[in-house]
Amino acid sequence: MKISAEMAEMIQRAVAEGRVEKVAPGVSGIAAPKTRGRPRTRPEGETASEARARRAAAKAETLRDRRRFKTTAVPMGAPRIAPADATGTIYPARVLDASAGEPVLKDGSSNAKIGGDVLKGPLRGARIYTLTLEERATCPRSCALWATCYGNAMPHPRRWRHGPALETAIEREIASLCATYPLVLIRLHVLGDFYSFDYLALWTRLLDTHPGLHVFGFTAWAPGTRIGDGIARVRAALGHRFAIRHSGRTGRWGAFTIEAPTARRRVGDAVVCPEQAAAMRGEQGRHCGNCGLCWASDVPIVFVEH
Ligand code: SF4
Repeated sequence: MKISAEMAEMIQRAVAEGRVEKVAPGVSGIAAPKTRGRPRTRPEGETASEARARRAAAKAETLRDRRRFKTTAVPMGAPRIAPADATGTIYPARVLDASAGEPVLKDGSSNAKIGGDVLKGPLRGARIYTLTLEERATCPRSCALWATCYGNAMPHPRRWRHGPALETAIEREIASLCATYPLVLIRLHVLGDFYSFDYLALWTRLLDTHPGLHVFGFTAWAPGTRIGDGIARVRAALGHRFAIRHSGRTGRWGAFTIEAPTARRRVGDAVVCPEQAAAMRGEQGRHCGNCGLCWASDVPIVFVEH
């Protein structure tokens, strides 16, 4: 084929600009402009900084702080004290049967301190749900905070009556949550404790069945008791998927309380709960969802009584 002078000039220009991949004898091969690195995915005309802002906005949309209330309490170290003979909550009207037709696992977004989503760390993206049982009625009598339990200052939360109906509801709801979300983190127990060995075994079974399930929380069952030792065994087997700490002690997987507010970030080898520490400095915004210390680390954690 005879090429025109105009076409020859065009080919020369393409060669000069590096746009020719290969020119076989008699064939002109003008290639698309070469791109370096990742293929361009930005819409035409969008600058790099606009693209960064667009990606950040999309990320924030999928993983945002969904808390309905964002003001957390400032711990004052002045707990309300229950009567000496109390064996359950001082708000008995807030104890409900699990068969009431209402989910027993609550979206953490309704709890300003906990939050509904894990926003950082290895569980980033997990949905957080909470379970609240009746304080004292489900706890070991040996609990050091029997009379000063922080449930004394919580008149509003519903406490689920423990027993077979609760366990059936938990199994059903966990199956549903784990079928919906790849990662689910349950806060055990906002109030209350592992009330029997069989109830602990239920959680062990659920963790076996649902690989995306994780739990965190605290127990007053001390090592050396049947339930306390059972908890330690499950934690040793499952690690951070079963991040249950022993209250009233320091050391690995420990947690304890102090009676007065503090400006310190550490007490001995324990870290002051970052949410409480922030609230005592007058700062808001810190919550479990953007902290994660309880389930991501075995460092002891110290709380101020409230
Ligand atoms: S240490 Fe972090 S994760 Fe644990 S209770 Fe405090 S804010 Fe929540």
